[in-house]
Amino acid sequence: MKKIIPIIISAVLLAGCAVTGENSSDASNSSLYIVPNNSENNSTSSSEQPENSEPSEKLPDPSVRLVCAGDNLIHSPIYKQASRRTGGSGYDFLPVYEDVREIISSADLAVLNQETIITDEFEPSNYPSFCTPESCGDQMIEIGFDAVSVSNNHLLDKGEAGLKATLKYWSEKHPEIILYGASEKEKEDDIPVAEINGITFAFLGFMEHTNGLSLPSGSDMSITYLKETERVKMLVEKADKLADVVVVSPHYGLEVSNEVTEDQKQITQNLVNWGADIIIGTQPHTAQPMEYVTKPDGGEAFVFYCLGNLVSAMDQPLGMLGMIGGLTVTKELDTGKIVLSEPEATPIVTHYGSNYSNITVYRFENYTEELAKKHGCPYFSYSFAEKQFEKVLKVVDYLP
Ligand SMILES: [Zn+2]
Repeated sequence: MKKIIPIIISAVLLAGCAVTGENSSDASNSSLYIVPNNSENNSTSSSEQPENSEPSEKLPDPSVRLVCAGDNLIHSPIYKQASRRTGGSGYDFLPVYEDVREIISSADLAVLNQETIITDEFEPSNYPSFCTPESCGDQMIEIGFDAVSVSNNHLLDKGEAGLKATLKYWSEKHPEIILYGASEKEKEDDIPVAEINGITFAFLGFMEHTNGLSLPSGSDMSITYLKETERVKMLVEKADKLADVVVVSPHYGLEVSNEVTEDQKQITQNLVNWGADIIIGTQPHTAQPMEYVTKPDGGEAFVFYCLGNLVSAMDQPLGMLGMIGGLTVTKELDTGKIVLSEPEATPIVTHYGSNYSNITVYRFENYTEELAKKHGCPYFSYSFAEKQFEKVLKVVDYLP
């Protein structure tokens, strides 16, 4: 139904030489390539028009259905339950996501914020210094995620070694996906670009902070904080020249609040002014509003200010309320213009019983008052969920 195809990532790749991948067995028309440092930009800007000397049958405009999920926040009860499901011989995380799996797998491009580092080089661990077994990452890919952002405050939970280990895991075990939001220092200006259904997407991820931890000076790893304004601007402007659509994942905003801050709005507008098209925000751990943002050229970008958690074992009621965002990206063949349409939010609830038992994600439309009464999170109720979703997502028709 979809897949982004693995492509050899090469530092000697010449500018503009988009390497075409081997075709996948499912006949999708996608490729992933990395744009090298110091390349002359071979623009695919929206003003370019395809040459068309002879009248021919008009092809349908290419389009991509994007979905995006928030923090995959793997507290210890989640991986312990996953371990128990296999009798201790491994980890089975899949039942956690069963109710949302189809939304992810049916998209052309599914994007995840992986909030915890994933590696088997460290023991699995809980807040405040998370580490998640590799099986979890494998199963996130199995359910259909194509792009994973790691730009968030827990990226340095195990220091520089943890960052290296998680990038090693993703690049060695899943070279077929787009991993963004951190890199080796020597590749820090390379921007992952994927072609999906004939539309090119560039991906960038930035964080507000890393919980007071930082890379050692002279580190051969690289992350970019939102406060590094000039660097962020440079990267977004570069991405804008490299791809039809620039996706930026900022980890920003107040934790456990569904109010969008002025800071989030200003950062979003800056990113859009520099060339971002789709902003996928995370950090506040709860669903926040989404909206169109006007670009300098009068066009429209789109922001999900915060998707909340995909799953967690937090103990605050707002932390149980997330959403899976959806957006259709269409490229008008006549003009090259990118149009963003059909924005959608699927509200989701993280449910668990007493003492964090049986942690599971539900679409709110499949969630019941009966289940809500048994929720182990203090002060959580069905009417609370309904009220908060209405407040945040009133712009969309989401209720069943
Ligand atoms: Zn976070």
